[in-house]
Amino acid sequence: MTCDLPYIYEIEPTNHCPYKCIMCPRGLGKMKRPRGFMRMETVELLLNHFHPSQQLVRVHHFGEAILHPEIHTILNMLGTKGLTTVLSLNPATLTPELIQKILSSKVNIVCFSLDGFSDKNLRDIRGIQCGFNKCWEMIEQLIQESRNQSQFILKVIQMVRLNANLQDIDRFNRIKEIYPEPDVHLYLAENIGFGDLSLVEQTLTNGNDRIQKTASPCAAPFSEISVLWNGDVVLCCYDYDGFQVIGNIHEQSISDIWYGEMVQSIRELFKSRKTESLPLCGSCFMAPHHFLRIKSLKTKVWKEEQEILSIYTQAKKRT
Ligand code: SF4
Repeated sequence: MTCDLPYIYEIEPTNHCPYKCIMCPRGLGKMKRPRGFMRMETVELLLNHFHPSQQLVRVHHFGEAILHPEIHTILNMLGTKGLTTVLSLNPATLTPELIQKILSSKVNIVCFSLDGFSDKNLRDIRGIQCGFNKCWEMIEQLIQESRNQSQFILKVIQMVRLNANLQDIDRFNRIKEIYPEPDVHLYLAENIGFGDLSLVEQTLTNGNDRIQKTASPCAAPFSEISVLWNGDVVLCCYDYDGFQVIGNIHEQSISDIWYGEMVQSIRELFKSRKTESLPLCGSCFMAPHHFLRIKSLKTKVWKEEQEILSIYTQAKKRT
């Protein structure tokens, strides 16, 4: 299994977020680390540390990324580096001004989280107060205005399968009747509770059975990192509270962090399937200690990148 340089899976512009999502540990108030906004010098530093083959990066982690006042500059910097950028947002946060700001950037993929089709569901699921009509209006405005500009943007409308929105799935699928064009893509995501099965079970009956059937033992320490707003580097995109900080890019290069003793010893625990003692991994259903050795550790990042780029490229060609 190669270590090479890590894939930078997610960058966190900010961990501020006004919502209370029932399927997110941050929304449930479990995040205790300080809140803040990524500085431009942190983004600048990061630009020099991408794996040469990496083509895509997610510009969000645990927070509402578009609250960063310079989100368009961050997206532009990453786009200028040649990376395909993915931005995930709650349509309730959008305003006409913010839509203009996002469209002025080099963003390639915008994902709208829309987990309910009524005021009540949006309030119950994400703590959204502004109502469904306002959210839908903002989605439609971004879709329409993105079509008036030269840069192609794929718009993904995403819903996480939950008990609270099962009755909305049909309505979700019917969005394709309103937007049959290839630049609008629907994604019904499985509820994976950020690795926490109890969180899955609380929000989707028998949700554990669904995800465990296809689960593979994780190989994150061999492939990827995510970078928090303050430059802290974590091994996992589920790490909402900096449980496993392996370094900070203001103090060390990503390469030095990646080949340092701490990550080496975590890799040994993964190889020997003794991950029970690790914070976060200890309670994650994908941690290797839950699997028989005949099931080899599986990295996800490069395959996922190819799948997303393929959807993006096909949609662009057909538009
Ligand atoms: S075992 Fe779970 S928590 Fe640990 S790195 Fe993998 S996905 Fe993240």
